[in-house]
Amino acid sequence: MWHSQPVTGFTLWFTGLSGAGKTTIAELVGPELERRGLLVDYLDGDVVRTHLSQGLGFSRADRDTNIERIGWVASRLTRAGAVVIVSAISPYEDARRAARALVEEHGAFVEVHVATSVDECARRDVKGLYAKALAGEIPEFTGVSDPYEDPREPELRLDTAETAPEESARLVVAKLEELGLVGVPA
Ligand code: ADP
Repeated sequence: MWHSQPVTGFTLWFTGLSGAGKTTIAELVGPELERRGLLVDYLDGDVVRTHLSQGLGFSRADRDTNIERIGWVASRLTRAGAVVIVSAISPYEDARRAARALVEEHGAFVEVHVATSVDECARRDVKGLYAKALAGEIPEFTGVSDPYEDPREPELRLDTAETAPEESARLVVAKLEELGLVGVPA
């Protein structure tokens, strides 16, 4: 006997500056969704750039190509019923909107702006990149020598200067519950 399986895929898209906390929060949200029985896959900007987008740089054209590719893969996986968690700076509104349009052909697109300020990212400077960028050693560094366009209408905005990673993850899951994309535990 065949059971028709409901397609419940959606894409959770984290955007924000380098070091804002996208990956950190994604890695807390993903396992929680897996615990709830969902199939989760990750498209992390740093990982994508070593595989799918190897060779691309940081010009606007290359950044747009990178996001277009991520959006396309996210759309395919969403269609297949997966929960896709994207963590990518994705600095341009137009590119994010195009990714949203691709995904929404098959499922929901939930944009989360990890809205950590440049000052806060530079204070943390986990990878030492802000010190170099602020010294003028990295051209096209988002937030310092390259633009970041704040999302106009994200489904959720997180202020990580005020909110610990675990609390941010909790807020993301609560938003997914509110949107009816994940079930509420009994
Ligand atoms: P991104 O994926 O946005 O480039 P990462 O998650 O790789 O950022 O790095 C963010 C860093 O900031 C991590 O080392 C994380 O532990 C640290 N951090 C400090 N405070 C917070 C917070 N409140 N929320 C998220 N990350 C935080």
